Amino acid sequence: MNSAHGAVLALLSVTLIGPRAVSDDRWPPRHEIDETLAAEALQACGETWSDGDGWRERAGLIRTHLREVLNLDLDEPRPPVTATLHHRREFDDYAVSNVLLETAEGVYVAANFYEPLGREGPYPSVLCPHGHFRGRDDNPEGRFQHDYQRLCATLARMGAVVLAWDMVGWGETTYLPHGVPDTTILQTWNSIRAVDYVSGLPDVDETRIAMTGYSGGGTQTFLAACLDERVAAAAPVVMVSAHWFGGCPCESGLPVHAGPNHRTNNVEITACIAPRPLLLVSCGEDWTRNTPLVEYPYIRSVYEALGAADSCTMTHLSEEGHDYGPSKRAAACRFLARRLGLDLEAVLTADRAIDDAPVHILKRSELQAIDEAHPLPADAVADHAAALAAIAAARQSAVAEPR
Ligand SMILES: [Zn+2]
Repeated sequence: MNSAHGAVLALLSVTLIGPRAVSDDRWPPRHEIDETLAAEALQACGETWSDGDGWRERAGLIRTHLREVLNLDLDEPRPPVTATLHHRREFDDYAVSNVLLETAEGVYVAANFYEPLGREGPYPSVLCPHGHFRGRDDNPEGRFQHDYQRLCATLARMGAVVLAWDMVGWGETTYLPHGVPDTTILQTWNSIRAVDYVSGLPDVDETRIAMTGYSGGGTQTFLAACLDERVAAAAPVVMVSAHWFGGCPCESGLPVHAGPNHRTNNVEITACIAPRPLLLVSCGEDWTRNTPLVEYPYIRSVYEALGAADSCTMTHLSEEGHDYGPSKRAAACRFLARRLGLDLEAVLTADRAIDDAPVHILKRSELQAIDEAHPLPADAVADHAAALAAIAAARQSAVAEPR
């Protein structure tokens, strides 16, 4: 750990007031901990390594533990993802389709598939998992949220193939419940299967796949990108925090942050993405408010140790709140354009602002993958246990019959 982190800790000690967490064998003791304790814990993490090789060893420990807790072995072959697309709508420079993915036998995920029009492939791809926005008034939940529609369509207008899919127990995918710990396993599996799906498309460049989401979508982004090195760039938005481990069982319900020989946090899980390009987007009004002083310096020190400091960037919006609003989308779009070779110019106004006015905001009913003509298949699994069994079976059948 370098001296800068000692200075950060001292600064926090005098600027942040709060009770120390009680000593507890469980880590973290709660999904939100005292900010000074969190900074101390992060400093303790930093004392376990001192150079690139040391970090690689620690990242291996974090990744191996995560893989064990989530029971996901990415080295095993997996069968292809099946997808049923319908209601393709074409606009001037992009199209959007409704799609039902089957990520294991009987495990269905409703999604939308955005694609560029009038461009030659192969295309980069951006995966956009959503968070816990429940919807309000005329702005629906999850992947239907207008900010997500604007993000996905703008990226498609820039030349990316984009997939936005439901969390388990959210949107249309409500035949399974959401708020239980095993959801972390199913959602991470679905993220990896989203990578499988786009990387298997003939006109997608599988070396240029990125992932971005905000809040719980940020959690899904750093978990999948930590485990799956096919994610070539990542932009978790308003989520990466040393003192906030995620308020839902799908984020902090399983012991992903501690093993027999280590304690960690979402800062280090995100740092495991190094040396691949990373953008942290943070704001002043949620648990990412300390990012310039705490989280970003730590992650940057990992990138520096790996000789990749230029691949780690941050956009901190101190006056903003917890959303994926225009300035956050602009930061992500510019980052993804640079890292994936997208056509940023195609979406800029004369004064070089990102223009999302050409995006057609569709109604929830227009984006649904499940409707009267396309009902949820009768073989959909009945519960989480059946879904986990289907994932295990998919892996076994793939071993017997490699693709
Ligand atoms: Zn959740």
